Amino acid sequence: AEFRLSEFEKLRVLGHGNGGTVYEVRHRLTAAVYALKVVHTNTADASLRRQVYREVDILRRAAGSDRVVRFHGMAPTPSGDVALLLEHMDGGSLDALLRRRGYRPFPEPALAAVARQALLGLADLHSRQIVHRDIKPANLLINATGEVKIADFGVGKVLRRSLDPCDSYVGTCAYMSPERFDSESYGGDYDPYAADVWSLGLAVLELHRGHFPLLPKGARLDWAALMVVICFGEAARAVPEGAASSEFRGFLGCCLQKESRKRWSVAELLGHPFVAADYRAESEKALQDLLHEEMDES
Ligand code: ADP
Repeated sequence: AEFRLSEFEKLRVLGHGNGGTVYEVRHRLTAAVYALKVVHTNTADASLRRQVYREVDILRRAAGSDRVVRFHGMAPTPSGDVALLLEHMDGGSLDALLRRRGYRPFPEPALAAVARQALLGLADLHSRQIVHRDIKPANLLINATGEVKIADFGVGKVLRRSLDPCDSYVGTCAYMSPERFDSESYGGDYDPYAADVWSLGLAVLELHRGHFPLLPKGARLDWAALMVVICFGEAARAVPEGAASSEFRGFLGCCLQKESRKRWSVAELLGHPFVAADYRAESEKALQDLLHEEMDES
């Protein structure tokens, strides 16, 4: 064990996920606050155990990235589960932030800051041969200073070869790229890095629209409906002309290219005018304003 659970005091539940619960905890001695993710590995389901070790492996490999939630160690719990000690992101996830706003869309400059920071996170991951495979607003966390970081590596993967197509079906199907959704039509062979870019584009678009962007508001995300809009629709056209700047529409178009070969890489996207350095201060200020507007209200 890298720490003892008794060193920490539970403050409240931050969220629930697939196989566990995330708590806000305080170190008794230093009063420092962390997030503690308890994964219920003490079940007959061996896949959860494998998943948590994979997540820890990835978090360790990603250590040093300041756009990935920081990992401080793991420890067993008295009930035989595994607890991961993580950096506490006190603004919560971007999907929770959208909910707190009553699903009011994020303004474009704030989205530029989200996109830029998430791209920096993906750049750090991809340069370490890590693919996330479940990028969505619920897995992008924010802190009170407006920093956005990537979390939840439960279905992430370290690629052993430089281009090791991912075969297994993982992640949340709504954010899957066309080539992953319908891998048969694409020969089961796809670029897993490009799939992360698609999901990021869709996540940013969701924050712009205030709801899952490929279906009407409130529509059920069932498999058949998703298949039609992801594989036969034009996701990149989900933003009506006039509803967004040409830079933003262009950026989304580069992320949401249906053909993965034409989709921009993370490195290319970091040079896109929408996230360009010239507007960095302005966009980060817009994101902070949005965040504090919500924090003051709640
Ligand atoms: P799972 O892998 O079980 O889906 P996640 O890691 O996605 O769990 O966490 C579930 C939720 O808990 C997140 O959507 C978020 O609201 C909250 N959460 C997770 N990690 C943190 C953190 N480091 N700081 C603050 N909140 C967090």
